[in-house]
Amino acid sequence: MSEELWQKYYGRPNATYENKVQYGMLIDINKCIGCHTCTIACKTTWTDGQGQEDMYWNNVNTKPFGEYPRKSNVTDPSGYDYSHSNLYQDVPKGKYPDLWQFYLPRPCNQCARPACLPACPTSSIYKNENGVVLIDQDTCEGYQNCIKACPYDKIYFNKFTQTSQKCIFCFPLVENGQEPQCVKSCVGKARSFGDLMDPDSTISKLIRDPSLGARPYKPERKFGAGHRTTSTGPRRQYRADFGTIPSVWYVLPKNVPEKELEKYFGFAMKGLLAEPHTPEAPIKMKHI
Ligand code: SF4
Ligand code: SF4
Repeated sequence: MSEELWQKYYGRPNATYENKVQYGMLIDINKCIGCHTCTIACKTTWTDGQGQEDMYWNNVNTKPFGEYPRKSNVTDPSGYDYSHSNLYQDVPKGKYPDLWQFYLPRPCNQCARPACLPACPTSSIYKNENGVVLIDQDTCEGYQNCIKACPYDKIYFNKFTQTSQKCIFCFPLVENGQEPQCVKSCVGKARSFGDLMDPDSTISKLIRDPSLGARPYKPERKFGAGHRTTSTGPRRQYRADFGTIPSVWYVLPKNVPEKELEKYFGFAMKGLLAEPHTPEAPIKMKHI
């Protein structure tokens, strides 16, 4: 990402929501081992209550998924063999020895132009001063328009409270100087966290300059004393073509053919150079 584009997207307060801080995350896909510890750390902290049984504010996708061939000799009408749990879950794609597969951790992107926010008829969704997108549980009336609007499927409906709920980037912990639970608990040390609007924050430097990646990464003092490394390679957003300007970035997986990567990070790969998702560009909504 060029310095000029960085300044345009993050180097000044958000023109619409006026947050002067935009917390974001950089996730090194090459270091994610798909252990789902982050998912459980999140779940045991925030979503172990009534109505939250099926809620995963953070989840980890397996890519590719469901691209294995259907079979004619199975009883399930789908053509897939479900006789063993997780059968075909971790099946790499390609031809030996050129096989590829990766895990994609997915919290809410805390978008700079969140599609969920304007979709709320009761104005219950807002960006806080740190750029975290939050749903006011006292005023949410459960219309679920936000769930339809989020192109990343990152909002859940709590049938017990009759409200929509989502990842809160652990803002109560962050405001106390801690990192989010998924960052703290990451077994692969794949996640970095910090302020994208501060050009001197470690995360800003890591995203802007891929050549920095091989160096040891010491999180800002404010966010603990851990010690991580980030592998080299381009940094991109997942499905940046949705136009919401996600604040979660990824170090792309190695050994994945470029045409396959384009399915997931395509617009970002070409786009940040060609600026396809300027703040003026329309937000793509999946369902409405
Ligand atoms: Fe809203 Fe979805 Fe963006 Fe999160 S990922 S801020 S829920 S549009
Ligand atoms: Fe990947 Fe870290 Fe989550 Fe494990 S805890 S699935 S390594 S992001």
